[in-house]
Amino acid sequence: MAEGPAGEAVASDLLAYIDASPTPFHAVAEAIRRLVAAGFTATNPLQAWDGLPSRGFLARDGALVAWSVPDGAPAAAPFRLVGAHTDSPNLRIRPQPDTGRAGWRQLGVEVYGGALVNSWLDRDLGLSGRVAVRAGGRVEMRLVRVDRPVLRVPQLAIHLDREIGERGLLLDRQQHLVPVWSVGGPEPGAFTRFLACEMGVEADEVLTWDVMVHDVNPGAFLGRDRELLSAPRLDNLCSCHAAITALAGHTGTGSIAVVSLFDHEEVGSMSATGADGGFLATVLERLTVARGGDRADHLRALAGSVCVSADMAHATHPNYPERHEPDHQVAVNAGPVVKINVNQRYATDSRTQAGFEQACAEAGVPVQRFSSRGNMPCGSTIGPITAARLGIPTVDVGVAQLSMHSARELCGAADPAMFGAALSAWLSPTAR
Ligand SMILES: [Zn+2]
Repeated sequence: MAEGPAGEAVASDLLAYIDASPTPFHAVAEAIRRLVAAGFTATNPLQAWDGLPSRGFLARDGALVAWSVPDGAPAAAPFRLVGAHTDSPNLRIRPQPDTGRAGWRQLGVEVYGGALVNSWLDRDLGLSGRVAVRAGGRVEMRLVRVDRPVLRVPQLAIHLDREIGERGLLLDRQQHLVPVWSVGGPEPGAFTRFLACEMGVEADEVLTWDVMVHDVNPGAFLGRDRELLSAPRLDNLCSCHAAITALAGHTGTGSIAVVSLFDHEEVGSMSATGADGGFLATVLERLTVARGGDRADHLRALAGSVCVSADMAHATHPNYPERHEPDHQVAVNAGPVVKINVNQRYATDSRTQAGFEQACAEAGVPVQRFSSRGNMPCGSTIGPITAARLGIPTVDVGVAQLSMHSARELCGAADPAMFGAALSAWLSPTAR
């Protein structure tokens, strides 16, 4: 057997993180499990934060803010932030999902975010998310995960779709993506009873849910020499994993290291747990106040702060080279990518770019630069939102990949380790 690829241990750990995280709620729970193992302590937003843990976190639904405060940090110590997002495009179960026709039982779904919906066809799908359960006199939010194949969105046979060769595959998001899960007539209440059975509660104790589908096939190494990673949700669990790992190993002095994992990036970030909500700003202010600082100290802290917005980048696609800017080619296994857009679709400016590229140099990893074609609209990230809300200079960076927003994405196996090393160096600066 060939020798393992560079960065294999980190890549294996990333696959474990992704497999543990079929939904934003699971991604936060797994991040918490890892942070607690590294000595971080949970905080309660309803209580006073006197005696703030120097390594702590606050979780809210599919979002998390975690911090590491160096010994002796003054009240106005600045923040070094890394932001990423926990959500990925997928299919989510409707509130009244029991439906069907032609002798099939089906579950109604809604498309979440900018999914490549064709990639959800003919996959064996499980169900996961969280459920509001009545327990005694209270409502409890519980995670649920059904990891066996229970759903399938069957593609129409080519014999019944003769025009597919000329006009391509056309999928109507209301009509063509409804998964089958059983046979027989529609059965009101069946999904509720299914969830109850899976969770070991009575059907009338299942109140509401945020449940979505996931591919039950785990992530895998791929390629002639295992130099690639094939996995769901690389966008953006790859960045969440690198950020949490870097924070767990944080040893810097001076600045406070903060990682924020947001939900709802794929639908515009405007929510209580999204980057366009107040969650991060609130936690940052509490970090200053809990350490004895006042409003002036906090504004001083913000004035000295910088942020990395970590999200995946587009590698140059070998079959579509004309879709990429010819003088800004991006390769896999060639190091982190800094994303620059003069129209501020990315928040990077020359100063923050220089800071991150210096961190890459300190970590001994190469760095690449992405700039999109002038005749093609550019994607965006939480970077410009964070920069605008907090007034903090920000750099947009990430790992190169193909198939972004597919149910199954592809990146280099060596890149997660290089990205993690760059984030570690950036969180604990030596020379800046
Ligand atoms: Zn993303």
